[in-house]
Parts: sequence; C-alpha cells; structure tokens
Amino acid sequence: MRLAARSARIAISGTAAVMSEAARLKAEGRDLVDFGAGEPDFATPENITAAGIAALAAHNTKYTPTAGTAALRAAIAAAHRRDFGSDYAADDVLVTSGGKHGLFNAISSLVDDGDEVILPAPYWVSFRDQIRYVGATPVLVEAGEAAGFSLSLAAIERALTPRTRAILLNSPNNPSGAVLPPELFRAVLALCREHRLWLLSDECYARLVYDARPYSVGAEPGARERAIICGSLSKTYAMTGWRIGYVLAPPAARAAMLALQSHSTGNATTFAQAGAVEALSGPQDAVVAMLAAYRERRGLIVAGLNALPGVSCQLPAGAFYAWANVSGALTRLGMSTANELAQKLLREAGVVTVPGEVFGGPAHLRFSYAAAPEVIAAGLQRLRTVLH
Ligand code: GLU
Repeated sequence: MRLAARSARIAISGTAAVMSEAARLKAEGRDLVDFGAGEPDFATPENITAAGIAALAAHNTKYTPTAGTAALRAAIAAAHRRDFGSDYAADDVLVTSGGKHGLFNAISSLVDDGDEVILPAPYWVSFRDQIRYVGATPVLVEAGEAAGFSLSLAAIERALTPRTRAILLNSPNNPSGAVLPPELFRAVLALCREHRLWLLSDECYARLVYDARPYSVGAEPGARERAIICGSLSKTYAMTGWRIGYVLAPPAARAAMLALQSHSTGNATTFAQAGAVEALSGPQDAVVAMLAAYRERRGLIVAGLNALPGVSCQLPAGAFYAWANVSGALTRLGMSTANELAQKLLREAGVVTVPGEVFGGPAHLRFSYAAAPEVIAAGLQRLRTVLH
C-alpha cells in the first residue's frame, strides 16, 4: 500500500504509545503503577466542569467561529495579561483543539520543506515529529545535564544556518522540568529579530513553576511581531481530555493558521470552550492547590529515585516530570538502552515509565509525578525490587 512520503517521516508519538499500552494492560487487569502519561491525576475543578455541563444543557453544541468564541479569545488574552503581564488582544488569539494542535498549526504554517528548526534536546517528542512531518529538519542543541538542562545562547548561535527558520523553546521543559531564564528568552528573541526567524514558545507548563515567577516571552517588548506563543489548558487546569489550547501570534501568522484550521479541524469543541472560559476567568485556587501537591510529590519522587543504585535525578524547577539519569543502572544490569530498562520495569514490576529515547535522551527515564503520594511510594518500592 502506498502512503504519502511525509507519513514515513514520523512514527506514533512515544508518549501516546506508552499511554495506550498502559491502558491496554490495565484493561487486562494488570496492576500497574503509572508514571507514564503526563496527565494530572486530579479531576477537572468542579466550577469548570459545571460550566461545561451548563453549556451542554443550554445546547451550546453547534459550530463556533473557527478561531474560537469571542468570550474565550477575550478570556485567554486577559488571563495571559494577568498571569504574565503581556498585552495581547482577543484578535491575536486562535483557540485550538489542544496544545499540540496549536503547535502543528504553527509549524505547518510557518516552516517550509527544507528549512531547519533549532530544537533543544531533550525535547518533547511531538516537536521533533511535527518538524519532520512538514519536511523540515530539527537541528538539536544539547541542554546538558551538567548545566541543569539549561541552554547556552552560544550553542543556539552555533546551530544557526541560512536555512534556519525558527527556534523552538519549551519552558518548563518536558521532559527535564528545566526552566529557562528570562535573559535567555530575551537574547533568543533578539537573535530571532536580527535573523528574521520565528521564536516558537511552548508555554504548556508555564504556570507550573515551583520557585520562579511564571514567565512568558510574549510579554517582552517586540515579542508580538516575532514570537508565536503556544499554550494549553490541559495541565494547568487538569483538562487534558477537553482538548483546549491556543496560539497567540502576529496577524499574518495567525491568519495562515486560521486558514489551515478552517480546512482541517474547524473550531475547538463548543462546550469545552465554555468550560475553558470559566477555567481562565474563574477562581484560580485549584491551580495553586495542584501546584502545592506537585511540589510535595516532587520531593518524594526525586529523593526516592536518588536513593536507587545507579539512578540520579535533578530537582525539576517546573512541570511534573522527574528526568532520571539511569546510566549507572543500565551498566549494572548489562543493558544498553533506557528502552530495555523501561520494558523490564513494566514486565517485572508493573511500573510504567517513558524511555528517554523518545525525548532524545537515551540515558534517562521520564517519571510523571502527577500521581498521588501513595502511588509514588508504591512505585518507588517496586523500583527497589528490580534495581536493588
Ligand atoms: N504531553 C503529555 C506527555 O508528554 C501527554 C502525552 C502527549 O501528548 O505527548 O506525556
């Protein structure tokens, strides 16, 4: 059977594959401790759910404008101003069906076949495959462990070529949890202005920072002409299944994405948009409470991982992933890949992790700690039985 050439450039998302495998095993009755999916274990806050239900009850089940309802676009712009000090207006907003849809719109609309996109590694798997899908090349820049998975401007500059079209930054980073300093964002923005590149910023975890103040490059002077801000409500508000994301972009870029979206998905789900308005405009205490819970869980899992022989893990500054270096464990077990170790942990201990190969970091495993403390404790106990 003949497939389009572009289909051969990508594979099923490594994170999505782990999630479906875990779901399959659970359905078979396997008792798993699941550190796989990057998905809050909290229910969507009640006020948000109630707004979605009310919208359904009021028969808000028809099309909305492709870009999203006026109410949601205004709420996104207002929340971005409140949380990050930016100055976007409703007309700068495109509502998308989840965060990765916004990124796909942006990469498809702004990056050409043969272009290069600078991508820090480790990276979230869909960045790499979306870039490949449009025929461009991800040019990897190492965010090294010794530097706390941060990035140097010099390394980004060295990766620039005449083919570079965009630089993609993701802070806090999935999978490392590293938070990039505002100075680096400012320097990369200046570089993008100088070389007429797009700065793609995935802010999916921007509210989930433990010490730094939430930051968006979109609030920097001059960013509105150069930066494409991709955001999501999934993690911040425990709304993964609602599939609501957004893009903030300059007019021509937004128009291109809107045209693409008008021919592909159309509007994001209508009653989910109503829930999203409540999430962004209603009380924010659930976000604060969930972040406090993630902080406690972070301490638990990082200490537990560091106590395992052959495993070391830095304290993530944001998001809810522990990115553990397992090279010592691989050596002790006579294994050569994190993937082998992930399989062993699943088979022998029923512990689900995501192998680092998926994120361009083959010496690591990613543990999502958006799980209850007792689940984390049980998982650590199981890990000890395999890695003792
Ligand atoms: N972003 C989450 C993760 O990295 C959810 C799965 C996905 O969309 O990749 O686990």
